[in-house]
Amino acid sequence: MSGNFHVEARSGKARIGSIKCSNNCEQGFQGRKVLDTPCALVLTRKGSLPNVTNELFPLTSREALVQISLLDFAVFNANDALGGAEVISQYGKGVHGFCSLKGRSTILSVRAAGSQEFLFDVGARKDLIVGELRGQTQRVKVTVDDLLALQQAMSCEFFEHLSVAAPPNASKKQHESSVWRSLGFLDETISRRSSCKGQLLGVVQGGFEAEYRSLSAKKTAERAATGAIGGFMISGFGFGETPDQWETAVAAAVVELPDELPRILTGDGSPERVLRAIELGIDVFDCSYPFDVAEFGIALALESGKVLPGSAPFAQQPFSRCAYDLCGSGQHVNLNDGEHELSRQQIIDKCTCYACIKHTRGYLHHLLRVQEMLAETLICIHNLFNYNSFLKAARESIRAGNFDEFRSNFIRKRRQDAVSQGSSYPQ
Ligand SMILES: [Zn+2]
Repeated sequence: MSGNFHVEARSGKARIGSIKCSNNCEQGFQGRKVLDTPCALVLTRKGSLPNVTNELFPLTSREALVQISLLDFAVFNANDALGGAEVISQYGKGVHGFCSLKGRSTILSVRAAGSQEFLFDVGARKDLIVGELRGQTQRVKVTVDDLLALQQAMSCEFFEHLSVAAPPNASKKQHESSVWRSLGFLDETISRRSSCKGQLLGVVQGGFEAEYRSLSAKKTAERAATGAIGGFMISGFGFGETPDQWETAVAAAVVELPDELPRILTGDGSPERVLRAIELGIDVFDCSYPFDVAEFGIALALESGKVLPGSAPFAQQPFSRCAYDLCGSGQHVNLNDGEHELSRQQIIDKCTCYACIKHTRGYLHHLLRVQEMLAETLICIHNLFNYNSFLKAARESIRAGNFDEFRSNFIRKRRQDAVSQGSSYPQ
């Protein structure tokens, strides 16, 4: 991505950037061929957003990168080795044509969508990993050549190389092994990619330990100096790390990375954590949060800046614990709440998304009550729209040079709303 990413403005370490889109993104956003950062990395399942078809995707926002999971397109042969590239290659229009994603910038990721992180064995071969999905027993072999063949067929704008995430509570030896094996995969990918198009993302591993995060970032950045890497993927979070461990590890990695390349962070995409990551200098974030809360019938109201009517305290709600963990504050409406039954009120006041313009809280409450799938579709459309508006506001504050104020005001308001609704606020 070298030369395709440009930092336009800063507020402290937080920065506004733009990523030039490739030829696959002729349409761009409102005719432009750039993507503004900080922005979201939207997860997909088999190439589509959760609950939202790609035809409806434009209703949410164009200001997002799209994660394509390698495992969703894997076809396994008799030896459990990875195939799948042949089908897409024969189709001939890459993942953009195959999945109706024209106009989108995509990242081919080795990770599974959402929280199903792909876990890797620590093996001996430098061109092969053996991994399994969290909670599943089937093991999958993936080689560097498998990855490159799939990338060649899919023509994603960016792709990450194979890497090894250290398990939680890893020993010093395991941390070192994960870092050096990941670098080995990076070197193998660089040396064997030849004509494989797309920008390679160097993956930074190292668990929750600052020492190993720093080592991984430093060594990966050395490869970037040759022009072989177009950006960085800081990976391996979401394994139960504490906020302090997360922050220390992310900061240790970012400080080693060159300024002129974009930094993508995987893991938790809650608003508080996203704002802290932006403050540390991250450009793109995992974005399962708007979809996760939608599964509980919760519509986000992140940018409203006011206490919303009709939001009962979490303690009175059927999904209180889960919803509370996901939302962390009062800036939302739980559409399961019975008081919305006859409401003709817009889902979220003043929101201009498709769902809010076309439908009422009462209708969404009805859809949820009868378990109609359309409920999650509409809530996802709204939530992603709202989340992107929140990121847009963050970008504007960086451009104006007052991001610190934006962040502290946001946190204060979230805390006030949570307290006013009888909830405590996570630290
Ligand atoms: Zn809306």
